[in-house]
Amino acid sequence: MNDSIRYCSNPICSKEIKGFGNNPQPFLNLKIEETVCNSCNEIFVIPERMGEPMSKFAMLLLNGFKKQ
Ligand SMILES: [Zn+2]
Repeated sequence: MNDSIRYCSNPICSKEIKGFGNNPQPFLNLKIEETVCNSCNEIFVIPERMGEPMSKFAMLLLNGFKKQ
């Protein structure tokens, strides 16, 4: 068993990753070694990969983060 805990590479999330995690590319130009959790994968990564505009919800999250 590998006991090392990984955390979501999305700076506005940083949750502990359960399971394998997800390749974050191309979201935020993260490296392939980075990992995002399942929710970030669904909200941010998949839409970006499909070339869809980021959802309003995702924009709000990111904008809130940048203001801090
Ligand atoms: Zn996450």
